[in-house]
Amino acid sequence: MTSIEKQDLRNLTQEGLIEYVESLGQPGFRGKQIMGWLYRPGISEFSQMTDLAKVFRQVLAENAYLSQFPDPILEKASDGCVKFGFRLDDGHIVESVLIPEPDRNTLCISSQVGCAMGCTFCLTGTMGFIRNLKAAEIVNQICGVRDYLLGESPDSLIGPTRVTNVVFMGMGEPLNNLDNVLDSLSIMTEQKGLDLTPRRITVSTCGIVPKIREMGEKSTVNLAISLHAVDDSVRSKLMPVNNRYSIDELLEACRTFPMPKRKRIMFEYTLLQGINDSDQDARILAEKLQGIPCKINILGYNECDALPYRSPSRNRLMAFQRILIDANYTVFIRSSRGSDISAACGQLATGLKNKAC
Ligand code: SF4
Repeated sequence: MTSIEKQDLRNLTQEGLIEYVESLGQPGFRGKQIMGWLYRPGISEFSQMTDLAKVFRQVLAENAYLSQFPDPILEKASDGCVKFGFRLDDGHIVESVLIPEPDRNTLCISSQVGCAMGCTFCLTGTMGFIRNLKAAEIVNQICGVRDYLLGESPDSLIGPTRVTNVVFMGMGEPLNNLDNVLDSLSIMTEQKGLDLTPRRITVSTCGIVPKIREMGEKSTVNLAISLHAVDDSVRSKLMPVNNRYSIDELLEACRTFPMPKRKRIMFEYTLLQGINDSDQDARILAEKLQGIPCKINILGYNECDALPYRSPSRNRLMAFQRILIDANYTVFIRSSRGSDISAACGQLATGLKNKAC
């Protein structure tokens, strides 16, 4: 039997592992024991799981395996961001971006190879959709970056030695791969898994309205909405998903999104010069978001030669922000990170140089 036909245990949540060991005739608690090993740094073989009986370890080795993302392709930006390219079994490459700050390491991860949504300002959109990532391929991005951090000298790092925050803002539309994303979230937040707190994880969507509620019912992580326009005709040109779900339908889904009191939805708004960056746009945005507990991230467009859009001036960004602040919103101007290695928002399109480290 080849490893491809075996069960990759990293695709399984803790409940899935319990069911799996039971299918092998073992008591369910062995599934929890295995979960306790799967995400420890340096564990790659069942023989290392020393609290499992030797015979059971052999059964596991015959029927299952642990996938890994070894030897990523790395590109480092002048601002400390690192873009990782992970090779998948079928030869595709999926990208993640580490954004270090002194008190945190945010990892931007991918949920699909390519993307079907075709947003006209996004390089990933130009790739088209190739396939969904499995849960293991999502969590292995975090494990791969964790292993990279552990292998670096702490003095050379800007942030901590572990991944502290995760955002689904890399390649793909996570809500178009919701089952695998939910399984990966379960593994990420499980104490015996990657032990990340849900409030440090954000799933970002371009607005797949029916899936927004489903995600809210099945997970407690943060929701971010890529809004980017306040007028349906403008948004439909930028984001074809808007032809299916209008701005008002999207915002209604946000109004009814199940959230504890202190939680906020994050709206992402990329300013494109002359398209969505006027004072009037800011005023309409303030009106439309009324009644939704939210924060707003505004960002100047990350220009690239392949796409026609341009970034507004810093003054325009600040004027847009001022109108929203005056309307009592919490608004951040998100600084662009990693743009010199095409790792900034909307720039992921497997453009990595084949540079193994
Ligand atoms: S912005 Fe997001 S949803 Fe739109 S094409 Fe790019 S990856 Fe897909």
